[in-house]
Amino acid sequence: MRRESRRRSGLVVRYFDPWGSPLCTCPPKYSLQPYTGCSHFCLYCYATAYIGVRKSQPKERFIERLKADLKRFVDPCLPINMSTSSDPYPPEERVYRLTRRALEILIPAGYKVLITTKSSLVARDADLLARGNAAVTITVTTMDERLARKLEPGAPPPRERIEALRVLHEAGVPVGVRLDPLLPGLNDDEDSVREVLEAAREAGARFVVTSTYKARPDNLRRVLAAFPELEKLYKRLYREEGVWIHGYWYMRPERRLRIIERVRRIALELGFEFATCREGFQHLHTAPSCDGTHLIPRRLPLPRGASCEG
Ligand code: SF4
Repeated sequence: MRRESRRRSGLVVRYFDPWGSPLCTCPPKYSLQPYTGCSHFCLYCYATAYIGVRKSQPKERFIERLKADLKRFVDPCLPINMSTSSDPYPPEERVYRLTRRALEILIPAGYKVLITTKSSLVARDADLLARGNAAVTITVTTMDERLARKLEPGAPPPRERIEALRVLHEAGVPVGVRLDPLLPGLNDDEDSVREVLEAAREAGARFVVTSTYKARPDNLRRVLAAFPELEKLYKRLYREEGVWIHGYWYMRPERRLRIIERVRRIALELGFEFATCREGFQHLHTAPSCDGTHLIPRRLPLPRGASCEG
């Protein structure tokens, strides 16, 4: 199916392939992106090498192509993740409503849907998501509004994202938080991590996935232009002592482990299920999936009567 979906041109539902990362532990799933580009303009964005640094643009004939893909090849047993790059709830979604329209097709039909976003706009769709086989993870990297404005200039403030978690949770949608990425010297300290996790837990999140920042030439340039005081530290951690893995500079494993173990300790203390993303630390996971797909409830029969056993 992976090869088949790659061969077809013009698809909007694609087999998720995280740039072939050997450290990705995501279960099999599809990726569905209503937009290209991303108006959130996060400095650390990993996707800009593919989607560019430009505002979110609606994909041409998106709904028509989605319907065609669902008819032709989509396996109803696999979850559809909206979205794995290019946020599904940029400000433009208020106008184009492509994500909403996609959900209006997917949810009543019984598809399993995982929403991954950095926007509080997702709360608008709580009614629809609560009726189906759907779960949501929202990224919150810091509760410090000023830092968030620098890191994620186009995304809603962290407090609004936490409120969105609460609205979804109260509507009955299973929710998790992505504390991702952790940038040394910015949001990886005990107080910052605790503040995010306490707020998310109190709002109803039961799962957290976390990850350290991986540097690429383009995102590192943006981060250092905004935080020139980190230049020496990042040069040492990433360029001198770090390891190049599949297109990214990683900090060395002991350093990453120290940061991740800090998050894990606080997460378990607060009663979260815990996972990491592309770290190679699966032994630390307590959650059944690293991406939150295990949160998806079975509320409606799957499409075409699929049972997906075994
Ligand atoms: S929300 Fe995601 S895709 Fe959009 S700029 Fe931020 S990291 Fe990139």
